[in-house]
Amino acid sequence: MINKTVATGKNNIIRFKNLSKINDLIHGFSTREFGSMKPGDPDSNISLELFSKALKINPQQIIKMRQIHSNNIRWVTQKDRGFRINEVDGLLTREKDVYLSVLSADCIPVLIFDKQKKYAGAVHAGWKGIYNDTLKAAINQLISNGSNPVNVLIGIGPCIRSCCYNITITNERANLFNKKYIYERNGSYFLDLPKIAKEQLLSVGIPKNNIEDCNICTSDNNDRFFSFRKEGERFGEFMGIIGRKS
Ligand SMILES: [Zn+2]
Repeated sequence: MINKTVATGKNNIIRFKNLSKINDLIHGFSTREFGSMKPGDPDSNISLELFSKALKINPQQIIKMRQIHSNNIRWVTQKDRGFRINEVDGLLTREKDVYLSVLSADCIPVLIFDKQKKYAGAVHAGWKGIYNDTLKAAINQLISNGSNPVNVLIGIGPCIRSCCYNITITNERANLFNKKYIYERNGSYFLDLPKIAKEQLLSVGIPKNNIEDCNICTSDNNDRFFSFRKEGERFGEFMGIIGRKS
């Protein structure tokens, strides 16, 4: 229980300084005030409408993902709006009025923007995604489409952090990651996934100053965010959105 600081931001939306400086770029993470965005939850459509209204965007211009903890990344266009893209954990777009969304309840949700090429991205990465280099796959997609990583801005959303991510009973998980990311406290083992995520981003050329982390732990701040580990089967999901307004 290290990180007790909650920066909910204006209107209960979590935003990043770097991304906020970009003209016409809409971005943010929803808090619990908007309700659960998890598909199938009874109020998820209302939640999404409230969040869209707060962001001043049209909910029909949002693209969703059916996230499967893969490293599949997909480029999407205006034609994909209103759809839920199957079996992907990252969306990228070069078009305006296309809002990419990512759902989370402990996994790391990441918002991406290339300020020169004007590409936007949203990625979902839990331990499997981090292990399978999902974030790097997204950045490499940008690079092969002309991005220079020095222009790419990153916002790391609320996720479970090393203060709470106890992997003691899931021992095989510990063996997948370098010991330097695992901390022992009172006989238990805790994994620092956001730290690995940041090192992965640095390794593909993103400058340190371009990587912003909201530093919010979903488990510690379960009153403002959803946490799968804290809430179990009843867990809801919050949403991150990014896209350019025309
Ligand atoms: Zn925590």
